[in-house]
Amino acid sequence: MKKECPECGEKIVGRIDKKFCSDACRNSYNNRVNKDSKNLIRNTNNRLRKNYRILEDLNPDKKTKTSRSKLIEKGFDFNYFTSIYTTKAGTVYYFVYDQGYLPLEDDYFALVKRE
Ligand SMILES: [Zn+2]
Repeated sequence: MKKECPECGEKIVGRIDKKFCSDACRNSYNNRVNKDSKNLIRNTNNRLRKNYRILEDLNPDKKTKTSRSKLIEKGFDFNYFTSIYTTKAGTVYYFVYDQGYLPLEDDYFALVKRE
């Protein structure tokens, strides 16, 4: 069975380990894949930066409390954080860099800045 070029769909002739029909196809394929992964990283970084600014705005004194609705109103996205910290007591803090939040009861959150 002949392999097809993943860029243009042409049958590949030549060496068995050849993945693309031509250098041009290889280049344009790799450029596109790299661009997509760069976009993914840029979009994720933008989400994290936005979340960080929201936490920073709401928590100027390194420790406070806020509500879920206030976070959502500002555009906070709970899917994006950089690390999770679990205390010995089993309490789970979510961090966006050094800004952390801890879900409390009744849709409230404790905000803490890591020293
Ligand atoms: Zn091709």
